Amino acid sequence: MVTPLDQPIAILGSGAAGLITAYTLINDGFSNVTILTKDKSPGGVWADERVYPGLTINNVYGEFRFSALPMPPPQIPTTGRLSGQDMCSYMRIFADTFLKGNIRYAVEVKKIYRPGSDEDKIGWLFDVENLESGELQILHFSRVVLCTGGCHVPFIPSNLSLPTAHRKEVKGHVFHSSKFRSQLDLLQSNGQDVKSFGQVVIIGGGKSAQDIASYLASREVRVTVVFERADAVLASPIPLPSFIRRSRFLSILAGHEHLDTRLERFLHTTRVGARLTHFIWNTITQISYYTLGIHRKSPLRNAHSLFWDIRTNDEGILRSENFHDLVNKGRIELVSPARAKALGEDGCSVVLEDGRNLEADTLILATGYTSSWDIFDERTSKELGLDRHASSSAVENSRRHWDYTTLTNPPDIRANGSQTGQEWINPIYRGIVPAKNILNHDFAINGAVFTTNNGYSLEVISHWISSYFLRDPHLQLPETVEEAMESSKRNAAWIRKRHPSALSWINPSYSSNLAFWTWPQAMDDLLRDMGLRTVRSGGNWFTWPFKVIKIDEISTLGEERRRRWQI
Ligand SMILES: Cc1cc2nc3c(=O)[nH]c(=O)nc-3n(C[C@H](O)[C@H](O)[C@H](O)COP(=O)(O)OP(=O)(O)OC[C@H]3O[C@@H](n4cnc5c(N)ncnc54)[C@H](O)[C@@H]3O)c2cc1C
Repeated sequence: MVTPLDQPIAILGSGAAGLITAYTLINDGFSNVTILTKDKSPGGVWADERVYPGLTINNVYGEFRFSALPMPPPQIPTTGRLSGQDMCSYMRIFADTFLKGNIRYAVEVKKIYRPGSDEDKIGWLFDVENLESGELQILHFSRVVLCTGGCHVPFIPSNLSLPTAHRKEVKGHVFHSSKFRSQLDLLQSNGQDVKSFGQVVIIGGGKSAQDIASYLASREVRVTVVFERADAVLASPIPLPSFIRRSRFLSILAGHEHLDTRLERFLHTTRVGARLTHFIWNTITQISYYTLGIHRKSPLRNAHSLFWDIRTNDEGILRSENFHDLVNKGRIELVSPARAKALGEDGCSVVLEDGRNLEADTLILATGYTSSWDIFDERTSKELGLDRHASSSAVENSRRHWDYTTLTNPPDIRANGSQTGQEWINPIYRGIVPAKNILNHDFAINGAVFTTNNGYSLEVISHWISSYFLRDPHLQLPETVEEAMESSKRNAAWIRKRHPSALSWINPSYSSNLAFWTWPQAMDDLLRDMGLRTVRSGGNWFTWPFKVIKIDEISTLGEERRRRWQI
């Protein structure tokens, strides 16, 4: 008899999510696992062909590590931040050590759909193109894990797009931040250096804009950064101890969808607790501004809120020649609040909405990313339940539940750039399985839960997916589609309540569920689903919030699940 373990599984994407999912499935005994990726090397965002010099990661050291492979220390130890190059080698070593022979590179999946006739509507068909030979193929798989990430398909406003640039005969370069590495390679192959970019204007106030700006400015390139609102920042004069930064401390202060402990209930549902909670977040914000030298009148203070938003740059400490340092030294010019409206008619400028004109030999669009789920046609997307629904019950739910004292007086979402304020439902159960498909056990997503600890979260999710594919009787799941839908709607309503401004930019392919600071509670929810021990960092009634959460605490999840199964 053919068991799920023998049936072919496709994992789409060789980023961190794809690699750890393949590793877990293979360790669980799935014998026919293939990663398909259009890249030439592993790592996704951190693949060799994408990582550019100057890219540093935003996470505390160790938060992007999997339990099976230790992470080498960062190249610049004092800052505690890994470089893009460090991440690239970690991903490559992981793939070489555990996944040799399981990855098909340079294969683009054009379309995913169910087989046509009703009787064999089992599994999935993939239209793929071999990017080296140009050969087209149709592949069949029984199960799919979608790991295409949320930072893969660039979002480019049409008024600033390449076709518009061609039409306006723009003389210099116009490209999205995701192409920065290939543009540098091109310059190098032409024997030029970055100074040949001339005056650079970068549109966007996020991490990519800042990394690229500092890379260029530190090489004496003239850089102007245009943005409406900056990301929140987190920094301290000295590296904070692990019991603060790698424990549950911030996650408890952030407030989860359900408050399981007395301390959390005190912090979020009493007046004194709420005051204390907001006081701590405000203090962290002020210390961060002080550390990074962001003075009172700086446009960088016109930033997203550390408490309400999840657009946060976790800087650690001030590093010399990083973005804030170079801004303070006057080597990066900021134009904000401002929004780019069009490419100038003279072919070497950009026009802002307020009428100003900025000289730009090179325009870099650090304008973010859009969903990578465009590989489903409308019918498949509807059948599967990946489409976005409007739902009045989301608003109703958000009014009824979560009367947390900390969540009174939310910021005005229009101030955060939300155009419509429309309510929406992205019905993905736990951010992992489309609610509509929950009973089929043949489709899952890893990488759509927005978190600050990718290593831990992606690994726990990979175990949940494996249990789900194996129909593990210990995995608690909704029993009906309606139940799964209701749970997803409730979660969408929670997101709306907790992070109202996320609506203005949300991209479901990496934020179907938001477990930003609260990833420890969200991962406990998944461990609980699997019937496994939660709050693994331990501690007594007093010490538990400060216990360091180590990746090793989840290294035995596979064994634990198998043991339970045997019992
Ligand atoms: C410049 C940059 C910096 C970032 N910095 C941080 C950071 O510091 N900290 C942080 O937590 N997050 C950061 N992120 C977010 C980052 O996307 C995630 O943290 C994480 O790396 C995503 O992993 P993933 O596996 O989900 O997706 P990805 O790494 O994006 O992998 C997606 C994979 O899917 C493949 N793919 C997609 N579509 C197809 C298709 N149709 N056919 C074949 N293959 C396909 C891609 O080729 C790729 O292999 C950053 C993102 C960017 C772009």
